[in-house]
Amino acid sequence: MKVLVVNAGSSSIKYQVFDMTDESVLAKGLVDRVGIPGTTLEHKPTGKDEVVIKRDLPDHTEGMKLVLDVLVNPEYGCIKSMDEIGAVGHRVVHGGEDFAESVVIDDHVKKVIKDCFEIAPLHNPPNLMGIEACQALMTNVPHVAVFDTAFHQTMEAANYMYALPYEVYEKFRVRRYGFHGTSHYYVAHRASEMLGKPYEDCKIITLHLGNGASMAAIKGGKVVDTSMGFTPLEGLVMGTRSGDIDPAIVFYLMEKLEMKSSEANSYFNKKAGMLGLSGVSNDLRDILEAAKAGNQRANIALDVYYNKVKGYIGNYMAKLNGCDCLVFTAGVGENGYDVRECICQDLDYLGVKMDTEKNKVRGKEVDVATDDSKVRIFVIPTNEELVIARDTLRLSK
Ligand code: ADP
Repeated sequence: MKVLVVNAGSSSIKYQVFDMTDESVLAKGLVDRVGIPGTTLEHKPTGKDEVVIKRDLPDHTEGMKLVLDVLVNPEYGCIKSMDEIGAVGHRVVHGGEDFAESVVIDDHVKKVIKDCFEIAPLHNPPNLMGIEACQALMTNVPHVAVFDTAFHQTMEAANYMYALPYEVYEKFRVRRYGFHGTSHYYVAHRASEMLGKPYEDCKIITLHLGNGASMAAIKGGKVVDTSMGFTPLEGLVMGTRSGDIDPAIVFYLMEKLEMKSSEANSYFNKKAGMLGLSGVSNDLRDILEAAKAGNQRANIALDVYYNKVKGYIGNYMAKLNGCDCLVFTAGVGENGYDVRECICQDLDYLGVKMDTEKNKVRGKEVDVATDDSKVRIFVIPTNEELVIARDTLRLSK
């Protein structure tokens, strides 16, 4: 069966087509600036040249129509007709407490996705738009939702509850949910295979370090803890997000900078993190370069970033009572070997010893720990789309 995977953002649609007989990718692409002048579709069919189409598109339905046209294009498409697509898998960010697993989308599922608009205002509305656009165009195939929060639903109350009055959990659903679940799930499974140990017997710390970043502590196949919380703002220092701070700073700066709550939300999500601290960029590559050239703020920003990750490694080692491996993934984790080296420095007390020569790799699955390191250090490129395609295939049989 062939499966189409769709990840719809507020102004973008990412897609991949998988042939599930061998899990190969037939094509992938991105429609950018949907609903904004200058819409562009970049389509990459496997083994053929990339195609770029520029055409202003008003909404996700028109965006999806163009994607489907491109998929069956005789010249650069990857299938002869849409009948070849047996199911569609959709990435959905928030499934609240309702979904601990992927599900076939029906009216109830759409209602739950909608009910989560309030707690995921940036992500769930465009996710639902993508689903509805696809459903309108592909009426005869099952559509499956794969949630970023699902894997973290295995967390226990000890780690998902905040020390706030209990009724805000009951009334307003304020608790820790965690995100990037599909990525943590994928790399944790690959790690158990690389360890040669049953997944259920492994203790794994996963580090998804991208522009957004989160970590997870996984034991017996369940998430013990994860660094993102009620929203993706909590936890590590990210490209433009502050991560953990004293919550009193929010009220203090709202007063000092005369911000409304929506402005404060945007401030801590978009102007903080590595961008705010370094004043250079949200891209770690630019900050590493500036730091090497002697930029003091860039150096401080990197030290804050490394310290925060190290702190979570210690936290999770304590919660798991040691671990079998650390797993680095996503843009920074897969490619930034200097970042990995700084994070793993001086962790030998915890049994983590890196072979800095082996570590000089980008984007490959590899063990970069020394032979005598008690804890393995894996670099594993993430593949959220493959998890979505596999779940979609499983649920549409
Ligand atoms: P997201 O999906 O959260 O937008 P990605 O996982 O694609 O992010 O990661 C993007 C980030 O990866 C970029 O912001 C950049 O900082 C980082 N990155 C890519 N290559 C390198 C590298 N060689 N060294 C350090 N960071 C890198």
